[in-house]
This record gives sequence, C-alpha cells and structure tokens, in this order.
Amino acid sequence: MENEPINPQREDAGQRLPVVAIDGPAGAGKSTLAAHLARRFGLLNLESGAMYRALALKAIECDVSFTDEAALAALFATTRIELQPQSEGNRVLLDGHDVTRRVRDRDVAEAASQVSVHPQVRAWLVAQQRALGARGGVVMEGRDIGTKVFPNAEVKIFLDAAPEVRGQRRFLQSGPAQAAVTEESVIAALRERDARDRTRATSPLEAAEDAILIDSTHMSFDEVMARSEEIVRQRLEKADSAQ
Ligand code: C5P
Repeated sequence: MENEPINPQREDAGQRLPVVAIDGPAGAGKSTLAAHLARRFGLLNLESGAMYRALALKAIECDVSFTDEAALAALFATTRIELQPQSEGNRVLLDGHDVTRRVRDRDVAEAASQVSVHPQVRAWLVAQQRALGARGGVVMEGRDIGTKVFPNAEVKIFLDAAPEVRGQRRFLQSGPAQAAVTEESVIAALRERDARDRTRATSPLEAAEDAILIDSTHMSFDEVMARSEEIVRQRLEKADSAQ
C-alpha cells in the first residue's frame, strides 16, 4: 500500500533510529515532504519552524519587541512549547494552549523570521529540538537541521525552488480566505524572509556539505516525493550496512 510505513520495525530490531533532516527556504514544500516521509518510513514528523513561530506568538502576546534579545530570553522561563505530530503536520501547543492555526498567520511568520536571528533564541530552541530527536526516529524540517541541530543525521535533504515558484505555490495554497493577498506580495514576503534567513550571523540557512540538493522548480510534487524516498532508502541501507 502506498502509505504503509516500509520500515516500522526498526525500533524493535534495537537499532539506533535514523534522523532525516530536511532544510530549505520558505515555501519549498518541506512540511508536505516531511509528513510524507514520516508516514512512509514510520518516523515522527517534527516541524522546527513551528517552535520559532510559537515563541514569536508569545512575544506578540506579551508585547515583547522582536529585536530585544534579552527580553525574548526572559520569556523562556515562562514559555512551554510542545509539538504533537499528526498525520498532516504538527499540533502546536503554547503554554498548554492549541495555537496550531494561529502560528500559520502571516504576522507570526514574519515575527518568527525576526526572533530567529537571535543566538539566545536559537540556542534555547536547538536544545529542545535535540532533546526531541535524541533517540532518533524523526524527520525534522527547518533551516539548520542538517548543519546545526543534527549534523550527524543519517539523511540530509536540502529542498529548494525558485522564489517565484515557491511564492506561486504558497499563494495558491492560501485559497479564497486570503483573497486580499496578491501573488506579488507573497513572493515579496518570501524573498524578504529568505534574505533574513540566509544572511543572519547564527546558523544561516544553507545546505550542509553532505546534504542532497533537490531543486523542485521544474518538478511535480510526486517527483519530489519519489526522489526523496529513494534518497532516504539508499542512505538508510548505507547506514545499516556500516553497523
Ligand atoms: O519553516 P517555517 O516557515 O515555519 O519557519 C518560520 C521561521 O522560523 C523561518 O522563516 C525562519 O526564520 C525560522 N526558522 C529557523 N530555523 C529553523 C526553522 C525555522 O530560523 N530550523
């Protein structure tokens, strides 16, 4: 069957469970790909971006400036972020409240991109991400998973596409509820977030040296999924034979 996990017995075999790291810019399709690979290979799907979004939402709610690193760090003491993997992405809890829908809003995405430049914010969330993936058995997607969070991940994929294509896909996904939003404004916002993610001093968005690049500009999503499955299968076979 198409969606049946092909390797659900790995944990029973007593092996270290694999980590699949998926990085890339906004709108490249990382979340959909991560959810698919998690189902296919029997792994937990964790969206690191949702953690940055949840912290950003807390800053919005507490009226803390996105540029004030010390004030953001002071928020850590009273902030609890939980990710609950579901079949199509993560349920996000902020201090016990379900904020899954709210963190997808544009103002939160924009705020997340700003709070994520601060080294203290990154250190706090990276520590939590490492704890979540310490036993392996996860697909984690983000910007620095293969370079910083799990530099020893068994599989690293860097998923990219031209900004116009990513913007167009995002625009089409946003549907009629966001009718006031134009395709041009979506592309402009993506470019701005990309620039901030790629140029920040701490853990900028970049492909790990051993990541496999998939440029999906001219690929259908089925092709991306098929190629990624092949990569995961090959890497896992290689890791198994090295054990
Ligand atoms: O992936 P997502 O769009 O949900 O991420 C929101 C923002 O969080 C990104 O624009 C990026 O600035 C930040 N982020 C990050 N490192 C990650 C994941 C997300 O800096 N690992």
